[in-house]
Amino acid sequence: MTCRTYDVAVVGGGPAGSICAVLLARAGLAVCLFCTATACLRRREILAPPAIRAVRSLDIEDLESVFGTETCVGVESRWSEEEPTYFDYELYACEAALTVERPVLDQQLVRFAVDSGVDLFAPTRVVDVKRGQRDIWTLIAADRETRCSDSFQARFLVDASGKDSTTKAIGDRRRRVQDTAIAFQFSIGQTRSPENTLLLDCSPDGWWYSMPNTSGEADLVFVTDIKLAPRGGLQRAEWMIQMFKQARLLSDRITGIPNFRHHRGCLAHSSQGGNFCGNGWIAVGDAAWACDPLSGSGLLVAIQTASRASLAILDSLHGREESFGRYQTWCASESRVMEAKRQEVYAQVMSSVRTFPYWRARHKKTTGNA
Ligand SMILES: Cc1cc2nc3c(=O)[nH]c(=O)nc-3n(C[C@H](O)[C@H](O)[C@H](O)COP(=O)(O)OP(=O)(O)OC[C@H]3O[C@@H](n4cnc5c(N)ncnc54)[C@H](O)[C@@H]3O)c2cc1C
Repeated sequence: MTCRTYDVAVVGGGPAGSICAVLLARAGLAVCLFCTATACLRRREILAPPAIRAVRSLDIEDLESVFGTETCVGVESRWSEEEPTYFDYELYACEAALTVERPVLDQQLVRFAVDSGVDLFAPTRVVDVKRGQRDIWTLIAADRETRCSDSFQARFLVDASGKDSTTKAIGDRRRRVQDTAIAFQFSIGQTRSPENTLLLDCSPDGWWYSMPNTSGEADLVFVTDIKLAPRGGLQRAEWMIQMFKQARLLSDRITGIPNFRHHRGCLAHSSQGGNFCGNGWIAVGDAAWACDPLSGSGLLVAIQTASRASLAILDSLHGREESFGRYQTWCASESRVMEAKRQEVYAQVMSSVRTFPYWRARHKKTTGNA
């Protein structure tokens, strides 16, 4: 076992971890980044205009180009019993959103971090974290290819491990997992959806989104609750067909019925509350708080928390310890604002599905109504 000492160790190479590592390395700190081979779905996500502006405000040359140029011009949604509505990004938010492909984006951001001077350890999983003498963190990281472990030391720990949250065992996090949401993804062939428009639709047991690319092909994602999904492959596929048929906007646009037998799932739960930082550690992105995927704000949270956390660490190194307290207050307040927005969205859902378990559970939680 070897032992190296860094100013900051960042655990997790998603957008929050990579951006935080870039900001700290560019400020002159010795930074290492631990990154497992990402297991998240190869899905397309929306970088909404506020998130684009947050990237721009970091003022790092070439960073914006990492997010690509593929635009999403608007969102067509069937969220009420009335006709589908259309939200035009340029009209309402003054610029188009971007469509990013995960984990391609993650790989490019990690490369950007390496070019900024960050030491990358990948594919490596941090398996243990301890705070020892002189307030130095010791991390044990296992190389996923060689299966060898190595030990690293750092003065600060950034938890960017997403919903897995490595530091949840450190301090009193009291993070409340709000649901057992899961996202299933399917590949579909040609669609009749307008190019570069996100489609959102709801069914009794969850909601769907689809985003066609310029050649008219699309991925389809169904977000539901693991408790509602039948276990058997055939039964699950039949249940998905029933849900799909009730998503009238999507089923009208997608030619035929997708092959629901071939799907992959990933965790999509939200979490809220608890501590966002503590003595020598700070959580960013989903590890700080994971918002509902329906809000489309996860990437914004990743960018904003990465930016604020890096400032708090730099301040702390200059003896300004109160910046961690400010970070805690900001995260608590922002996560409450996002929770309020989530409540608005769930309150809108059409009365015909509101009585079904998926929506009833969320509507009850958000409004207090049964
Ligand atoms: C179905 C779905 C659709 C979504 N759509 C959107 C959207 O359109 N727009 C949007 O803004 N947001 C969207 N989100 C939210 C967005 O994906 C997340 O908020 C975002 O990925 C958070 O980034 P992160 O860097 O905090 O975490 P992650 O992207 O989860 O990255 C964490 C990384 O840490 C790694 N890791 C974990 N533990 C360890 C360890 N011990 N050692 C080393 N590495 C570790 C993980 O493998 C992972 O690579 C969506 C989420 C879901 C589930």
